[in-house]
Amino acid sequence: MTEPQRVLITGGASGIGYAMAIAFLEAGARVHVADLPGTEERVPEGCGFAGVDVSDPTEVDSLFRAVLSPTDSKGLGGLDVLCANVGVAGPTGPIEDLDAADWDQTMAVNVRSAFLCCRRAVPALRKAGGGSILLTSSTAGISGFPMRTPYAASKFAIVGLGNTLAMECGEFGIRTNVLCPGSVDGERMQRVIEAEAEATGISAVDLRNAYAKQVSMRTFVEGRDIAAMAVFLSSPEARYVNGQTISVDGGLETLRTIWRT
Ligand code: NAD
Repeated sequence: MTEPQRVLITGGASGIGYAMAIAFLEAGARVHVADLPGTEERVPEGCGFAGVDVSDPTEVDSLFRAVLSPTDSKGLGGLDVLCANVGVAGPTGPIEDLDAADWDQTMAVNVRSAFLCCRRAVPALRKAGGGSILLTSSTAGISGFPMRTPYAASKFAIVGLGNTLAMECGEFGIRTNVLCPGSVDGERMQRVIEAEAEATGISAVDLRNAYAKQVSMRTFVEGRDIAAMAVFLSSPEARYVNGQTISVDGGLETLRTIWRT
């Protein structure tokens, strides 16, 4: 019998990360979630939990010490899969109105967190004889996203990080792939739409319909659609899938500024 995969998911107390945690558990994996302190009650039953800010190098170091420790029963004792999934929406508005502090914060949570987790995960995955790194970018990280410059730039950076790690670590059997979710139905997208409604004066209902119309299949997607792709990409069936940027979005045609079209 093969050993269960040991999976670390950042941002697993909500949204896509939560759906990933459920999907990996259902696939028989052992799952550890790292999310902000105070979110433990939202984590799916059966997962380990660490309350950390993953944009902080010291906190990420202690997270990995605990997760990898062979003697800490709350950890995984090693690692086969890292899902570096945490991300925030960042500010909405024309570039001339945005603050440098908000830019820095978006980059720290969306990009530095992934770098910090990958640099601790790679030696552990090498020790395991290989493994899978999944980075969550966004369709905004392929096409750009007007009025969301910090977010789009951070998501392009994630694609660059993923492509480079795929090249740097492929020879060790570590596969790195980047997931680009489209608009995911849920609280976060609702918050994004409300911020845009506030910034533009267009109603939230009209904005939501406009988002769906940008997609060939005229739909939002769900967290479980991204999670299913994550489980597949980490499975032996995907053993030669490396360095890919994969959208799960119903076929996004454009992310043009809705209110100027
Ligand atoms: P979400 O807000 O529902 O969940 C994010 C989780 O990350 C939360 O549980 C939050 O507590 C945690 N978190 C935030 N900052 C943290 C930090 N510094 N340290 C530790 N945990 C932290 O978001 P989501 O919709 O599930 O998004 C997950 C990923 O998918 C993000 O990278 C996001 O950019 C990307 N994405 C989302 C959508 C969408 O429509 N929801 C679309 C494309 C890409």
